[in-house]
Amino acid sequence: MNSWHTDYHSPNRGLSFEISESQYRESSPYQTIEIVQTPEFGKVMLLDGVLMLTEKDEFVYHEMLCHPSLLTHPQPEKVLIIGGGDCGTLKRVLQHPAVRKAVQVEIDEMVSRVAKTFFPQLYEASQDPRAELRFEDGIAYLKDKASEFDVILVDSTDPVGPAEGLFRMSFLADCHKALKADGILCLQSESPWIDALQPIIRQVHLDLSSLFPIVKPYTAAIQTYQAGLWLFQMASKQFSPLLLEPERLEAISRLDCRYYNSGIHTAAFFLPEFVRQILR
Ligand code: SAM
Repeated sequence: MNSWHTDYHSPNRGLSFEISESQYRESSPYQTIEIVQTPEFGKVMLLDGVLMLTEKDEFVYHEMLCHPSLLTHPQPEKVLIIGGGDCGTLKRVLQHPAVRKAVQVEIDEMVSRVAKTFFPQLYEASQDPRAELRFEDGIAYLKDKASEFDVILVDSTDPVGPAEGLFRMSFLADCHKALKADGILCLQSESPWIDALQPIIRQVHLDLSSLFPIVKPYTAAIQTYQAGLWLFQMASKQFSPLLLEPERLEAISRLDCRYYNSGIHTAAFFLPEFVRQILR
């Protein structure tokens, strides 16, 4: 008989789904990694019981974390990904012909090893000669970096454990320092529906606004993530995502996306009123 898993978003709510087979479960020094097969979402990766990605809809999160920033920067040659060990973000970064180097800094090597076995369609991006995979703490990695990257993408777990520091001012300031004079930073910024996360979302927004002249939060509808609405925050030193030349917007159609398109590129930055109030 199939079992059920509940991914708890707070003590009072969660997403439940049926599991047809448990395929992998191991603990690394950082977290417990599980792969389960589900009738609804295909293969699912859980970290400490929290849903990270599903075969069915990983494209939404990964396209929306990567493409708006890489389209906004006119020449994103050197890109840094913090976290993202499954390589789903890396795969989308490498779709951009301007990218010459993509460094992925994931704290937990076991996440990438598991992705190699269970999500080869994502992990294969790591074989691209432009990709460099490093396994270390992204916070420590950035400490001595200056004016090196065109784009930094933070593809982190929720703000607990090793990812907690990825939501703090000191890390955001290190990202700012590691970016070139026209660089762009984009962070996954959690679900605005989860009450306990709203102060963190607001603080990240305030911190980014004190560091960067252009800060543009945007949303995506992700059915398997907490409450189905996800926030990202793009912070830019020079380029605005809302002032793209027509030929850059046209380039979106060549990316072969399943969620992101030129209409969404603009529409995603128009926030629901309750989200605007959280950020105010
Ligand atoms: N890309 C995924 C998705 O579809 O939602 C999920 C996120 S990815 C698996 C998040 C990764 O961030 C985890 O593998 C975790 O180990 C990594 N991580 C957490 N804290 C980190 C840190 N301080 N430095 C580097 N990586 C970190």
